[in-house]
Amino acid sequence: MDIEVDALVVGAGFAGLYQLHCLRDRVGLRTVVLEAGGDLGGTWYWNRYPGARCDSESHAYRYFFSRELNEEWEWSERYPGPPEIRAYLGRVAEKFDLRREIRFGCRAVSAHYDETANRWRVETDTGDRYTATYLVAAVGCLSSANIPDISGLADFAGKWYHTAHWPHEGVDLKGKRVGQVGTGSTGIQAAPVIAETAAHLTVFQRTPTYSVPARNGPLSAEFKRWVRENHEEIRAIACSTPNGHAFRIAKRKVADVSPEERQAIYEAAWEVGGLQFRATFHDLMIDQAANDTAAEFLKGRIRAVVRDPQTAAALSDIDHPYAAKRPPIDTNYFETFNRDNVALVDLRTDPIERITPSGIRTRTREISLDVIVFATGFDAMTGPLLAMDIRGRGGRTLREDWIAGPVTYLGLQVPGYPNFFTVTGPGSPSVLTNMPVAIEQHAEWIADCIAHLRAKRIDAIEADADAARKWGQHVNEAADATLLSKAKHSWYYGANVPGKPRVFMPYAGGMARYRRTCDEVAANGYTGFVLGLGGAQAGAKSVEFGAAGGAPGI
Ligand code: NAP
Repeated sequence: MDIEVDALVVGAGFAGLYQLHCLRDRVGLRTVVLEAGGDLGGTWYWNRYPGARCDSESHAYRYFFSRELNEEWEWSERYPGPPEIRAYLGRVAEKFDLRREIRFGCRAVSAHYDETANRWRVETDTGDRYTATYLVAAVGCLSSANIPDISGLADFAGKWYHTAHWPHEGVDLKGKRVGQVGTGSTGIQAAPVIAETAAHLTVFQRTPTYSVPARNGPLSAEFKRWVRENHEEIRAIACSTPNGHAFRIAKRKVADVSPEERQAIYEAAWEVGGLQFRATFHDLMIDQAANDTAAEFLKGRIRAVVRDPQTAAALSDIDHPYAAKRPPIDTNYFETFNRDNVALVDLRTDPIERITPSGIRTRTREISLDVIVFATGFDAMTGPLLAMDIRGRGGRTLREDWIAGPVTYLGLQVPGYPNFFTVTGPGSPSVLTNMPVAIEQHAEWIADCIAHLRAKRIDAIEADADAARKWGQHVNEAADATLLSKAKHSWYYGANVPGKPRVFMPYAGGMARYRRTCDEVAANGYTGFVLGLGGAQAGAKSVEFGAAGGAPGI
């Protein structure tokens, strides 16, 4: 029997929880959330690897919609870890009574649009069938693990894990010889912690990466009070900066200061730590020469920390501008390579040939291992959506429609898929921002849009194909206006997944500007969307997004 609801939300992370609250409690819809995991949290439910921690600062990594919630909640550290984030989301669910609408352990496997009934028909892996007027994918951008296809893995006699599917009971690495493949944000967090317990850790590095110390620590009572008392101010900054963080990007350019001043600015930012480093100058992400100064500073720090010159060279020989790939922050990452029980394998000079029953064989040697840890990232942004069998008008599949890369309007809707919304979908600022800020904006926009449809008795909304094409162009231009386009081998381009189309997926025009665009679109009667089935009540389609330049949203 089909379970009939007004809105079905897929995913119970930050996005799904707030979307449920908006749709059920503000719009008044019968809403159900399907969640594959056994509890709340999305990425924080699954990612429990050693050293896992958020790299947004806790006072901005939260919902802003409820002042009361923020007065009741206190983060303990500068960067929250997964258990504290799960506890926070648990508190949110309790306060707003959200759990009763969430079906845990229930994965949506297919979602087909029934044109005759103007309904979405969704099936789950538990055999449940739902019928919904509105379907909202709140599936996260980084939730589909990328496990590399390295020959021999099936024959490995030891144990292997992907960081995004870390066993909830933990893994005892004491006395074990561990090989870690991958040195992105995850690998950089995991290696120092693994090295503390394992007998030996070999880090397999394909692309070296910049990193800035996180400088995590407990928050003082004074800071906690400041956070409680300055809710609106913190919110105002997070909602007006390009990247959704609660710090402003400096207005000065690198060339505005002397080399000595520049050095002092970088040194001070290095001491402060975290993602604020890339906010030191306005032009770091748009001017190669400006970026070079930050890149050289950070490479110099690696060389100063790592004692073995060959290892230091392999770690600091970085081929892309600083922050053109997602910049990690760390706790003792480079210092870890000074330990006697840690070794680096540079896969650019000594690539992996295969996995053997006893370890990993590179071109020059075989490294014996008891455990392999894949910190190899995600099939980002499109992966979680394409993992579902989503079909729109005429039975067309999202897989077919996105064969050359994602096509969306504002990262919110896909032409041909009426009443289907994506929270932080490809084409929205999403991963280039502090995620909860982007999520709140999307969940509210979607709820307001649905409220509008119901108030006006409009049966459907669908992205116009031409508007989506123009938006796609604008997304490309926005990336090309920044140095993000200089790291074509990043996951922003889908380059980490073999066969994935190379298309820049997030919107680099900045969160604040994006928010204005979305607000204007809605205020002008949903320009670029077709309102009403058959376009009978079509909204104005003419839509301009302006020049792509400006402060990048990172
Ligand atoms: P990632 O940035 O994609 O890094 C994956 C690493 O694995 C890269 O070093 C990559 O090398 C390597 N790799 C992939 N396939 C490989 C193969 N076949 N052989 C050898 N090496 C391989 O993934 P991630 O570190 O999980 O981070 C993904 C994103 O998640 C981050 O950028 C960030 O947005 C988010 N994240 C956030 C936090 C946080 O908030 N603190 C923590 C972790 C992750 P190449 O660079 O050569 O591809």
